[in-house]
Amino acid sequence: MADLRFDSQPPRFTDVPRPRRAEGQWAFGYREPLNKNEESKKNDDPLNVRDRILYVYSKRGFDSIDPADLRGRFRWMGLYTQRKPGIDGGKTGALEEEELDDRYFMMRVRSDGKLLSPEAVRTLGTIGQDFARDTADVTDRENIQYHWIEIENVPEIWERLEAVGLHSIEACGDSPRPFLGSPVAGVAADEIIDGTSALREIEERFLGNKDFSNFPRKFKTAVTGHPSHDVAPEINDVAFVGTVHPEHGPGFDLWVGGGLSTNPMLTEKLGVWIPIDEVADAWAGVAGIFRDYGYRRLRSRARLKFLVADWGGEKFREVLEKEYLGKELVSNPSPASPVGHRDHIGVHPQKDGNFYVGVAPVVGRISGTLLVSLAEVMEQFGIEGARFTPYQKIVLIGARPEIVDALLDRLDEIGLPGRPSNWRQNTMACTGIEFCKLAIVDTKDRSRDLIAELERRLPQLDAPITINVNGCPNACARTQVADIGLKGQLVMHEGQQVEGFQVHLGGATGLDANFGRKLRAHKVTSAGLGDYVTSVVTNYLVDRKEQESFAD
Ligand code: SF4
Repeated sequence: MADLRFDSQPPRFTDVPRPRRAEGQWAFGYREPLNKNEESKKNDDPLNVRDRILYVYSKRGFDSIDPADLRGRFRWMGLYTQRKPGIDGGKTGALEEEELDDRYFMMRVRSDGKLLSPEAVRTLGTIGQDFARDTADVTDRENIQYHWIEIENVPEIWERLEAVGLHSIEACGDSPRPFLGSPVAGVAADEIIDGTSALREIEERFLGNKDFSNFPRKFKTAVTGHPSHDVAPEINDVAFVGTVHPEHGPGFDLWVGGGLSTNPMLTEKLGVWIPIDEVADAWAGVAGIFRDYGYRRLRSRARLKFLVADWGGEKFREVLEKEYLGKELVSNPSPASPVGHRDHIGVHPQKDGNFYVGVAPVVGRISGTLLVSLAEVMEQFGIEGARFTPYQKIVLIGARPEIVDALLDRLDEIGLPGRPSNWRQNTMACTGIEFCKLAIVDTKDRSRDLIAELERRLPQLDAPITINVNGCPNACARTQVADIGLKGQLVMHEGQQVEGFQVHLGGATGLDANFGRKLRAHKVTSAGLGDYVTSVVTNYLVDRKEQESFAD
């Protein structure tokens, strides 16, 4: 197996012509930082901040924190300062980051597709209760996100997490961000291949590894062997997607260069087949290309998708094979197409005769207390474990056939239904103005109210319709790939600027992956959101032809 560590085997960088204009690409010798983020990373490896948090800042308090750590390197430990309460969305762009900073932190704990025991779920819950004012959101990258964290408590939180195999390392920052793994890996009856061992190898070899701690920007990974492609592989930087090669059998397609935000792009399929024990090497090769050839001059062009768009898939594959893997990859004549719905809500068969059960919190908003209740339910019914999903949902693994009905009833009672309405099942929302410094509008509470309103006005729906709600022009809740994507902004209403949304309609991932159309005229106030969505959905239901989906 090739050793892909940068310090032991630097790539040759021979086959790609030096660009005319400096983009700060390390591969061409541009090592001088071209912006303040690059400078901060060069001054000190961001992973070094862990020791300062443990041994200095947590002892001396918030005011002792070096600003370069606070607004830069803390992210590599999954810590961001949260938004100071009471600043309205109209001031977001006008204020400096320091003016928006609270003295409390958001902490993101990565699950990386792991199967969480009842003990791990209880630990996540009690941390929320003890240190985070009972907050705990499930995010669309399978994380638990806490708020109101104080720096003094971080060491104890980390200790409790580590005791159950969890942590927050590189949950943010220009790093290998939380990995998406199939929530039903190793258990679903219709699985093509179980990617668990590959994901664990990537984590063990490359997470917290200084060869991969300074990317040009964030680097998002997804691995799934489920036929539904349940990890949104179209919009990750690198994705390994289960497929069956006609000669070699089950393995993974390699897709690169997806991402949303402003300039959304879908992944480029490289047309190769990777066996499971070579996935980690291929990951390191793609990550190495991003680290070495990725654009570092402008943050707005620093994602892998821009490099892939400029190079094209063929050249990317060639560089990967020649400079990073030292061998040709197997071509794949049968690229994987997704089959079925991806969110795993409801009751589904496992390989072993048991069932897995997907449940739907409201837009990922749960609490420490609810996680503790969930742990109790898991123990009471002998549930093997839980996984978080990329749709802000939770899947319980290992329900025996004879307990499924009673389990569903009990989950309903604690507020985690396995038979939710369309609106609850298919709505996601980002953090929004409650805690996010970039937000312009409220998202979580607004979405909860919207779901309740739609459940009342449109209770019966025979085709799923997805709604993704974002608090600003970024796309943390994937605005562009929802049937109805809502992007927070201020809109004019009766001569006043008020909270509202720019609407995107008809986006999708999966078989018909595409970005929703931004309809310039479609801007809606937060207060008018219920009426607007009701009217759009009613028009679709009246006008649709047979089998025509909302995106069509
Ligand atoms: Fe914050 Fe904007 Fe992301 Fe929402 S979409 S979490 S408001 S940056």
